[in-house]
Amino acid sequence: MDSIFDIIIIGGGINGAGIARDAAGRKIKVCLIEKNNIGSATSSWSTKLIHGGLRYLENFEFKLVRESLKEREIIKFIAQDIVRPLPFIIPHLPSQRSKWIIKIGLFLYDRLGGKSSFPKSKKINIQKIIPNILKSNFKEGFQYYDLQVDDKKLVELNINDAKKKGALIIENQKIIEVKREKNYWIIKLSNQKILKSKILINATGPWINNVLKDIIKIKSKKEIRLVKGSHIITKKLYDQNYAFTLQNEDNRVVFVIPFKQEYSLIGTTEIEVHSPENPKIEQSEIIYLINTINKFFKKQIKNDDILDTYSGVRPLIEDYKEASKVTRDYIFDLNINNSFAPLLNIYGGKLTTYRKLSESVLNYLKPYLNKKILYPWTHKEKL
Ligand SMILES: Cc1cc2nc3c(=O)[nH]c(=O)nc-3n(C[C@H](O)[C@H](O)[C@H](O)COP(=O)(O)OP(=O)(O)OC[C@H]3O[C@@H](n4cnc5c(N)ncnc54)[C@H](O)[C@@H]3O)c2cc1C
Repeated sequence: MDSIFDIIIIGGGINGAGIARDAAGRKIKVCLIEKNNIGSATSSWSTKLIHGGLRYLENFEFKLVRESLKEREIIKFIAQDIVRPLPFIIPHLPSQRSKWIIKIGLFLYDRLGGKSSFPKSKKINIQKIIPNILKSNFKEGFQYYDLQVDDKKLVELNINDAKKKGALIIENQKIIEVKREKNYWIIKLSNQKILKSKILINATGPWINNVLKDIIKIKSKKEIRLVKGSHIITKKLYDQNYAFTLQNEDNRVVFVIPFKQEYSLIGTTEIEVHSPENPKIEQSEIIYLINTINKFFKKQIKNDDILDTYSGVRPLIEDYKEASKVTRDYIFDLNINNSFAPLLNIYGGKLTTYRKLSESVLNYLKPYLNKKILYPWTHKEKL
């Protein structure tokens, strides 16, 4: 039988990858098991933004926005080859949020994260800065900055560094059986390999409760809401290097973002689903996104202009609000029982907060690792 790991992580999305890297850098014996390829699920189906989440201020999520803005600064530094700051324009729509609400939101957005290297937000004349893109009734607007990221690459860079620092990464392997003993977990893989670990971390994003129920066989204490989000990709709708934050009648926002030199990425939607498997865009989502573009842009688009689509499923912590208001924060559920080895379930989270989440996981698990673990380090070492 193999030697005992300190930590085994199930799930190779951004959260699992971030924890593996952080742990390996602290000389913790860590192994990550992913049933498909690394970063092939939710973490590569996102809007690809490292952002504070301006919209979350409306739900008074100041702590989350503050942490996200701080992380935006750190990720800009540690992942500089795969991120770029982008100016976002919010066209003013009097029927939606008032100028004052947006101004207050942006005032906070500029300041909540502390010292920032991003330009401050400002009021703009849209037709002067980017003439003839939006319809002529959209004259006034606001500009703020966020960070665009190659999400899949972010997972891969974390995994590569974790490997370099000694982590064992196992891809394309299913866990077929898990046994919980007093001091360790015994994990059996589909290739019949058996691994042992003092701590088990369930970082399977939208699969979290399925893995708990079907593999770990423990009743979940928390409910999650699975909310699908879809994007469409068109030939670029304009040449300038600006993104748009479009306010919709349902109070949601849709982003239009320059993508890979030649394209525009447009999303997203919010549709509740029952399963995280193979999410696909529905015609109603396509219509929703096309209508949003056609409401704001001079250039009108139709079904035939869509070159590609992708969808992902958000694993949101259930708080019984409407989908756009459900928190994007994360929660740790530590399952300890004096007679058995610990289990940590990770609920929720965003691409933006993966590094801080990973650091918090290790601080949280300190008492159960039975060894001196090194200080936090991922905020200063480039990926
Ligand atoms: C439409 C959409 C847009 C988003 N946009 C943004 C954004 O712009 N910015 C942002 O910060 N966040 C965004 N998010 C949120 C962000 O993408 C997710 O919070 C994040 O990717 C979740 O990462 P994860 O590691 O928890 O899950 P995942 O990336 O889903 O990883 C979980 C992994 O677990 C694996 N797994 C499942 N079961 C098993 C098993 N039995 N054995 C082994 N492995 C298993 C899966 O294959 C998967 O690879 C968006 C999400 C969606 C859906």
